[in-house]
Formats: sequence, C-alpha cells, structure tokens
Amino acid sequence: MLTRFKEIASGLEIPPSFIFARLIPGSSVVAAINWRVLCDRCYPEFARTQGKMPRPDIYIMHLERREQKERKKKG
Ligand SMILES: [Zn+2]
Repeated sequence: MLTRFKEIASGLEIPPSFIFARLIPGSSVVAAINWRVLCDRCYPEFARTQGKMPRPDIYIMHLERREQKERKKKG
C-alpha cells in the first residue's frame, strides 16, 4: 500500500518525503491520504514528534528523516 503511494508520488516527480493520512478527528476514519515536501519550517514540527500522530487528525505513514545538523538558528 505504502509502496504504491511512493510509486504514484515518484510518478508525479514529488519526492514522497512525507506521507500522511488525514483522519476524521475523534475517530480512526481516514478522510484522505496526502503527501508533501516539508519545508524547513514544517519539517521540525513533524520530525520532533515521537509518535505517529502529531495532531489528532494526522497519522504519519512515512516521514523521511533528514540528516541531523547542528543548527541553532531560530525561525
Ligand atoms: Zn512549510
């Protein structure tokens, strides 16, 4: 299943670095499957979470970890 999404994403020439399911909040019903490329601001928001659900409406299916670099810059 996940492999299929990766195939689709690569067919669209979008690196599937972040694939997630959107859930109906308060349930486990999947509303949609999405993927996107996280920018430098969005990436830490999801990368720092330990679990699969950083938000009640998001279930992370795949998150490509970036190389950890020492960066103290804010913003
Ligand atoms: Zn962003």
